[in-house]
Amino acid sequence: MAVKTPIYMDYHATTPVDPRVLDAMLPYFNEKFGNAASRSHIYGWTAEEAVSTSREKIAALIGASNPKEIVFTSGATEADNMALKGVAEFYKDKGNHIITTVIEHKAILDTCKRLEKEGFQVTYLPVDEKGMVSAESVEKAITDKTILVSVMLANNEVGTVQPIAEIGKITRARGVLFHSDAVQGIGKVPFNVEAMNVDLASITAHKMYGPKGIGALYVRRSRPRVRITAQMDGGGHEFGMRSGTLNVPGIVGFGRAAELMITDGAEDAKKLVALRDHLYKRLTTELESVNLNGSWEHRLPGNLNVSFSFVEGEAMLMAIKDVCVSSGSACTSASLEPSYVLHAMGIGDDLAHSSIRFGLGRFNTLEEVDYVADLVISKVNGLREMSPLYEMHKEGIDLSTVQWAAH
Ligand SMILES: *Cc1c(COP(=O)(O)O)cnc(C)c1O
Repeated sequence: MAVKTPIYMDYHATTPVDPRVLDAMLPYFNEKFGNAASRSHIYGWTAEEAVSTSREKIAALIGASNPKEIVFTSGATEADNMALKGVAEFYKDKGNHIITTVIEHKAILDTCKRLEKEGFQVTYLPVDEKGMVSAESVEKAITDKTILVSVMLANNEVGTVQPIAEIGKITRARGVLFHSDAVQGIGKVPFNVEAMNVDLASITAHKMYGPKGIGALYVRRSRPRVRITAQMDGGGHEFGMRSGTLNVPGIVGFGRAAELMITDGAEDAKKLVALRDHLYKRLTTELESVNLNGSWEHRLPGNLNVSFSFVEGEAMLMAIKDVCVSSGSACTSASLEPSYVLHAMGIGDDLAHSSIRFGLGRFNTLEEVDYVADLVISKVNGLREMSPLYEMHKEGIDLSTVQWAAH
């Protein structure tokens, strides 16, 4: 059977809504349109009941002991902002130091920059060449002024899965709050806020086959009780932590998506590992000079991030434009810098520019993976034919020792 193009392999950017999720949502746009805050009639009660069922499912997915620990937001950007700013403001008399990492999502990094302007001190922990944060570095960075540590569960570019349980042990022992941006790993790799001593966690529906514009912040209610200062006032929704009329259809979809992650997540992951490994095997056996970015062992099931030496990322993306992927190259992102994540791992500009992130997901097939492998292999070969650098490399010249003329 011929594959249908375009082929979507950018599941880290967003995922399609699972048809089962859409089915669950539809009635909440019209027949069950009530405001979950309406206490005086059946429309309100129906909406409120749907919201609490979703809260339970999401709590179950992340191992929260109380559904009231799930606070709905517009997504993970808002949840990240709420966690960092909310904790900073509430605990500012206790200390002004926050620890995070250089490979966090911009929702964390830009929030930290804002907090620095307001007088907070932020330590940005480095990563090793495989994109891993070390728990020891977290321990060493903690001072008596530290109020919060924020480390992501899994990185959105290179898919590295961080040692959350180890870090949680340390932060709990030191009496420091621990936040994790868990967006990319939820339902795909083990994550449990109780077992891992996580105090706050950000998640979003659209990275797990739910709709866009709905997410949540997990805020621990006991052992220890975490407090945050609300960033949005008006009406006192969400236990006073986030005012605003709830997006009921979104929340219903989020809950259904969470339920599907519980039932199908492990099976999905197994399938994705097989597809991902097949793609990697084909690329590395049928091409030379393919560099893996990020740890192989501690990696999201659907993530493959590789750099093709002697090939430009933009040229590659153009050549394979029937395949929807991302590149660590500058021109594909809003910023002018090549990927700061690859940079932090010590990967040079050339290889960062030639990196491609394949993000596989629930609806990809083996036929698609083979189609993509065939296409990438032939295009990389074609682009390399035209590359003088590749010519020199084939002649045995060590490019790292070449003295280039200044221009
Ligand atoms: C997508 C993403 C976000 C932002 O989530 P939104 O719901 O789109 O705001 C935050 N963190 C990580 C790691 C992400 O991948």
